[in-house]
Amino acid sequence: LVNRAFHPEDTIIDVNGSTVGGNKIAIMAGPCSVESEEQILTIAKSIKETGATFLRGGAFKPRTSPYSFQGMGVEGLELLKLAKAETGLPIVSEIMSNEYLDRFIEDVDVIQVGARNMQNFELLKELGKTNKPILLKRGLSSTIEELLMSAEYIMAGGNKDVILCERGIRTFENFTRNTLDLSAIPAIKKLSHLPVIVDPSHAAGMWWMVEPLSKAAVAVGADGLMIEVHNSPETAKCDGQQSITPERFKEIVDKLRKIAEIE
Ligand code: PEP
Ligand code: MN
Repeated sequence: LVNRAFHPEDTIIDVNGSTVGGNKIAIMAGPCSVESEEQILTIAKSIKETGATFLRGGAFKPRTSPYSFQGMGVEGLELLKLAKAETGLPIVSEIMSNEYLDRFIEDVDVIQVGARNMQNFELLKELGKTNKPILLKRGLSSTIEELLMSAEYIMAGGNKDVILCERGIRTFENFTRNTLDLSAIPAIKKLSHLPVIVDPSHAAGMWWMVEPLSKAAVAVGADGLMIEVHNSPETAKCDGQQSITPERFKEIVDKLRKIAEIE
């Protein structure tokens, strides 16, 4: 079902008017985690004005340490809904287990499967039975083939709206948080009709690399970007070092408009 051989045209996914796929670049932006009403509303209003087409924000966070901030949970989903009501931006948020599936179906517009859950097949099977668009991130050590097979799990259940995301993979290089696999974009485009976006924030792990990697992603044919934006990166509860400010986000989007059409 993911194979381009049986589906030559590019798939375009329409989420209440914001599209992913086709000739325009989708821009999903927002904080790593929802932290407070003020934080999410401030960020959402600002990025909406400067070019975001989706609001991202984690409510359930997959943290390496059990002692790190784990996200606001259901309360975070409520705050995302509030931000959507204020800005009209569709919401993207990560699901961690089937336990909250009904809430996610109710509350979010695109359900994100994080890198760490890319091969959580029980989760993928349940998501395949929903009619919500799924943003499937590539696993930290997963091949392109494995990513496509995970998308196949979702599609095999009847859900055809899958967006793929390259977010960097583990290599021997440790200067960057991960290594952005730019060649995955043309490779996936050749193998599959599904839209594919790039997350330069988690790939690099450093805010100052977001601009060059975003430009590179667009140049190699990505259908969109997922960028972490925080109004106060220094005090962010999660991933502050890779988050850009709303001002910088505007600058980057303005530059991208010169090389591509933004949704
Ligand atoms: C995220 O998008 O906040 C996230 C945890 O990303 P990844 O699953 O790619 O690490
Ligand atoms: Mn993050």
